Order: sequence, then structure tokens, then C-alpha cells
Amino acid sequence: MNELVKGKVKTVFSTSEPDEVLIQYEDRVTAGNGKKELNVKDKGSTCCEISSIIFKKLEEYSIKTHYLSNPTYNSMLCKKVDIIPLEVIVRNLAAGSIVRQTTLPQGKLFYKPLVEFHLKDDSKDDPLLTPARMMLMGYDPDTFIDTAIAINSVLIKVFHNIGLDLVDFKVEFGVDSKGNLLLADEISPDSCRLWKTGTQKSMDKDLFRNDEGGLMDSYHWILKKLQETN
Ligand code: UDP
Repeated sequence: MNELVKGKVKTVFSTSEPDEVLIQYEDRVTAGNGKKELNVKDKGSTCCEISSIIFKKLEEYSIKTHYLSNPTYNSMLCKKVDIIPLEVIVRNLAAGSIVRQTTLPQGKLFYKPLVEFHLKDDSKDDPLLTPARMMLMGYDPDTFIDTAIAINSVLIKVFHNIGLDLVDFKVEFGVDSKGNLLLADEISPDSCRLWKTGTQKSMDKDLFRNDEGGLMDSYHWILKKLQETN
């Protein structure tokens, strides 16, 4: 096994199968494009298990993902893809950068989900893209919008069932060797904002971003609830 990519919280290894990779989830949490980071016991396996449950659920709804199996608690066997350098963000309620950058107040409910795109490039601070800029870069926003909305519908249900409101989330896509567009990366409380239903109580990485503490208590709780309901 050779290391192919070392990300901030995940490491990608080659396998004996040329079209498959092993993604190892590390016991690390980062925020602010890696400016703030901490080693956290059990975090890798917890996010890997949460992500696996969610990918399997999305596959049930015919959303194509890179997920294949979980050889260990903290690793995921996945189809090898070329990651598209876009962060696709879906928002149901206002929080995070949209509150910092607009006049929208925290918690404002949108009449329909908002899909936004950022460039995936830490060295450029992941800037927000316009549809016109995306088109010039060779990406049609419409390729991603329907799938992102479909993922949102499934995730809203999954989290509603365990007493959480899905505020927003980020997904990434990749293209496999056959040219299929697949949902890739991870979906976990590291990449979603989740509030206890009807409140603004964070149960996600904002606990770390805002130094509130209790990150792993929350992640363990989410995993346990998802295991009970799925
Ligand atoms: N997000 C992510 N990785 C990033 C940027 C954002 O997973 O590099 C997630 C984040 O956790 C939140 C959503 O995308 O669930 C929207 O993030 P936002 O644009 O509000 O930025 P932030 O406030 O996290 O800086």
C-alpha cells in the first residue's frame, strides 16, 4: 500500500486493485483551513463509521458514491476517483460564512435549499465561485445541483430521525475510471452543521471551531443514534 494523498484529516492509500483506494480517517480535527488543529482520540473511526452509514443510505436512494466497504473501523475502501476541485455546499438555514458575508441572520430559514460552490484550494482560501466563473473553468453548475438537492433531501430525513436539524453541509465529487460522476470524500459532523431540533445547539465541528468543547461526546452520540435508526 502506497500513500497517494495526505489530507488534513484523511490519508488515501493505493490497494492491489488499480480502481480502488483505501481512505484512512485520522484522529485529528482541523478548522480554518488547517490553522487550528488538534489530535482527538476515536475521531477517525467515529467519522468513518458515520460517513459509511450515510453513504450506504444515499446508495439506497440511488445516489452514486465512491463507498465500497469498511475493512476496519477507521478505514473505508472506495472506488478510485479524480476529485473535482469544487466544494459543493447546500444550505437550509443561515450559519457560518453566509452569515459572516451577508446581512442574513443566524438561523434564517431559506424557502428552498441554496447550493453554492467554492474552489477547493486551501492556498487560495477556498473562494466562493460564481456560476460564470465555474463555466469558464469547464464546470457546469447544473451537473451538481440536482444531485446536491437529492443528497440534501435524504440527509434532512436521516438527521431529523435522530433529533437534528441539517443546517448546511459540504460535499465533493469525483470521476471514476469509467467516467462516472460519484459522490466522494466524507459526510460526517466534520462537514455538516447540525443543530438539536428546533434549537441552535451545535452538535458538529462548530463545537471545536468555537472552543465549546464536547466534540467527541456529540460525535459518539450521533453515531450511536444513527446505528440505532439505520
Ligand atoms: N465545510 C467543510 N469544509 C470546508 C468548508 C466548509 O466541510 O472546507 C462545511 C462546513 O462544515 C459547513 C458547510 O460546509 O457545514 C458550510 O460552511 P461555511 O461556508 O459556512 O464555512 P465555515 O463557516 O465553516 O467557515
